[in-house]
Amino acid sequence: MPSAENHRPATRIGYGFDSHEFRPGIPLQIGGVALPHERGLGGHSDGDVLLHAITDALLGAVAAPDIGALFPPSEPKWKGADSAVFLREGLKRVRAAGYAVANLDSTLILAAPKIGLHAAAIRQRVAQLLDVPVDCVGLKAKTPEGLNLENTAVAHVVVLLEKRKDPKRTAKNNR
Ligand code: MG
Repeated sequence: MPSAENHRPATRIGYGFDSHEFRPGIPLQIGGVALPHERGLGGHSDGDVLLHAITDALLGAVAAPDIGALFPPSEPKWKGADSAVFLREGLKRVRAAGYAVANLDSTLILAAPKIGLHAAAIRQRVAQLLDVPVDCVGLKAKTPEGLNLENTAVAHVVVLLEKRKDPKRTAKNNR
């Protein structure tokens, strides 16, 4: 088996999946953006299904422990937590491994609300959190046709990382 030093591929891929159940009386946040809706996504943190899937994609791309291992729901300090905190930790581990985000693609599956009106804002916020141009963030939204998931939001994410030329420099200076 080659050692990590001898095997530093130019690119790495990551995949993340998450699902949360809708619950009445809580705010809805997807991709770091508050969306007007009568129900929000339950969960121990803010329930941001898209940021959780992005975080797991980042962590998976560098074979780091997953979001549940790093931020266990059993720990009271993550109750109601801003999921941007999780994403930043994923990004930190990507950079520590010597990589930067090349681009990301995502699919949301939910019956309501319609994402189209909010897609630009979500892509903008995710791009800002990842420190990439907005045209490096893909977002599709689908309704759960035939899946019997009317009360659930699902997110699938793939991310491509590229090796940084000089891992000591920050990703920002590197572009
Ligand atoms: Mg989650």
